[in-house]
Amino acid sequence: MGVKALTTGLFALSSLSNAYAALDSTFFKLFDTIEKDVVIIGGGASGSHAAVRLREDYGKSVVVIEKEAILGGHVDTYYGDKTGVPRDYGVQVYFEYEDALDFIKRFNCTLVPGLAPSGATTTKYVDFSTGKALVNYTEPDAGAVTTAIIAMHNVLVSKGYDKMIEPGFWNLPPGPQIPDDLLLPVSQFAAKYNVTPALSRMYQSTGGGPAAQQKRFQDVMTLTFLQSFSPAWMRVFWGEIGMYHIDGGNQGLYNKIAALLGKDVLYNTVVLGAQRTDTGVTLLVSGAQGTKVIKAKKLLMAVPPTRENLLPFDLNDAETDLFSKTMYGRYGTAIVRHSSLTPGQELYNMPTSAVQDPYTPFVNNPHILSFSSYGNDTDLFSIGTSGAGTPYLLYGQTVATAVAQIELQNMANAGTIPKLNGKLLEVVEWSDHGPGGFGVSAADMRAGWMSQFYGLQGKRSTWFTGGAIAIDFSTQLWKMNDEVLKRMIAAW
Ligand SMILES: Cc1cc2nc3c(=O)[nH]c(=O)nc-3n(C[C@H](O)[C@H](O)[C@H](O)COP(=O)(O)OP(=O)(O)OC[C@H]3O[C@@H](n4cnc5c(N)ncnc54)[C@H](O)[C@@H]3O)c2cc1C
Repeated sequence: MGVKALTTGLFALSSLSNAYAALDSTFFKLFDTIEKDVVIIGGGASGSHAAVRLREDYGKSVVVIEKEAILGGHVDTYYGDKTGVPRDYGVQVYFEYEDALDFIKRFNCTLVPGLAPSGATTTKYVDFSTGKALVNYTEPDAGAVTTAIIAMHNVLVSKGYDKMIEPGFWNLPPGPQIPDDLLLPVSQFAAKYNVTPALSRMYQSTGGGPAAQQKRFQDVMTLTFLQSFSPAWMRVFWGEIGMYHIDGGNQGLYNKIAALLGKDVLYNTVVLGAQRTDTGVTLLVSGAQGTKVIKAKKLLMAVPPTRENLLPFDLNDAETDLFSKTMYGRYGTAIVRHSSLTPGQELYNMPTSAVQDPYTPFVNNPHILSFSSYGNDTDLFSIGTSGAGTPYLLYGQTVATAVAQIELQNMANAGTIPKLNGKLLEVVEWSDHGPGGFGVSAADMRAGWMSQFYGLQGKRSTWFTGGAIAIDFSTQLWKMNDEVLKRMIAAW
């Protein structure tokens, strides 16, 4: 869809939403009505978990509105490899956080320690902007990096910052009292505490993207950055806590949740309009199963609160003002193939400057992180791409694939890989992980954005959860959910 068509569509939806908010009950009688205790928007990690807990543990009836055909959000498992091996190319691992892994165990999924084997046996470091392989590049000293991650973790814990942000921001002080440290760009935080070597691993682990709306990784505000690289996640890096993947592919968990929830999920469905009051919500939704009215006592928003996702909702002036300040990046992952890519090899995007300084190997957005082979016996590769710093609505599959194609061409031109012979990169499966890397500016945070946002919890029967407003890892989001649900039930 072109930008103009998209803008027109959104404008029309906005008008519809305003008109809808003013409608009376005779309108609703035109459609089938579903009545539930809680309507949940989004069936990713947060929405799926919340649906299970509300229905199975709290005895509340639920309906999930999910725009895609499956549950799981950023979890992507490709089952079509000729080797028969499932390939996770979205969420890779689940790490221990309090008792959160019990949620996976209740579905009888087998947790296997560590990452699924990547399959690449060699790595070539290449500056994708020139296409040239780096000569005389030495990887950062692993010991120095781990020492720096431990030191950064210890700073966060000794100052009590972890308690302010994990798993959600319930204990973040009001704007004026937020510690200056948390509002610094992450590179300044690292320099202040002498932990800069930690950033090389952190950049690689986040793909430089999910944490960044900014073009440059190093400019991301520390508070925003920690959402994608939390103190708990740091403990994985020196083995204090374990990480696991699910045998048979991470999507297996969500397929089992889908089987359990059955007809309580409306797939390929979106919200067209909403009326929210202090006693309940009425939504008009439309999708594969037609147009329906949903009446519920509570609404749980488990999608990023972007302007597009909020457009169908009847925002008041305060909500409109608050959400107008948000910024997002866009990330994508894909399974690809091209005859000029060598099975068994990973091509890793590394700036030429890393030869001099391997501890700050940051590539500006947008970029492809790597082309990583799944092994000698397959022609499939995974890629991750960060489009942060570009308008996030634009950085979808088409633009991201063009970036990948250009970087591949650069490598062919430089002789790093064989000639492309006019062949385009084949995208076997694409997964949109955006909008992500949610944040607001340091000035807005200082002016109290987060406490105003958390102050909305429960107002107009609406609750918020999910990676945009908490630490953005599955297990930590499930503990965030526990807190949201506890408060929702207490306020019933
Ligand atoms: C590349 C990448 C790798 C990651 N790896 C890991 C990892 O290894 N381990 C880990 O714990 N975390 C990982 N994360 C973070 C993890 O993906 C997030 O913490 C998690 O997906 C966020 O869950 P969520 O439910 O908040 O949002 P999402 O997973 O984004 O779910 C939102 C859901 O809502 C749906 N939706 C969106 N808009 C609408 C709408 N308007 N109407 C209806 N439905 C809608 C979406 O289709 C989706 O299903 C990774 C993130 C990225 C980007």
